[in-house]
Amino acid sequence: MAKASASKVAKAAPKPKPEWWEKGVRFECQGSGKCCVSHGEYGNVYMTGADRVRMAKTLNMKTKDFMDQYCEKVEGLWRLKEELKSGDCIFLEGKNRCGVYEGRPDQCRTWPFWPEVMNAKSWKKDVEAFCPGIGKGKLHTADEIREVLARQAKSEDDLVNGR
Ligand code: SF4
Repeated sequence: MAKASASKVAKAAPKPKPEWWEKGVRFECQGSGKCCVSHGEYGNVYMTGADRVRMAKTLNMKTKDFMDQYCEKVEGLWRLKEELKSGDCIFLEGKNRCGVYEGRPDQCRTWPFWPEVMNAKSWKKDVEAFCPGIGKGKLHTADEIREVLARQAKSEDDLVNGR
């Protein structure tokens, strides 16, 4: 079957619905450490292959040793082990200091612009309600948010495909 011309495809494609964040979102990390403590389904710190290599390098460790000491595979996905008692991230030092900040995983870099929370309901309940950086500091434009969302989506894709 012949392919439709690009102009016909362009005409037929539905216009994407404007997002609630089209005018941008103010966010600046306040260093509260709140996203590093256990909070239900968003409490796991998942690790792609690139995350594991980068974090091991930051800690001056061999990737295998780093994985043996700090990572676990749960339901087929690599993630950081948690503090046994609190369930907090194993790299959280004191209340709010990341012990591996330079090498922190992608998901810590892309927060709060994750595909699964960028709908109005989740944003209110799972992000705005507990992250003190929302509404503060730099205005992230819709284009910037799209870029971060794409980065996080790729990272999630790598994770589920064992990369
Ligand atoms: S790796 Fe660092 S930034 Fe990420 S959850 Fe752990 S302590 Fe927080």
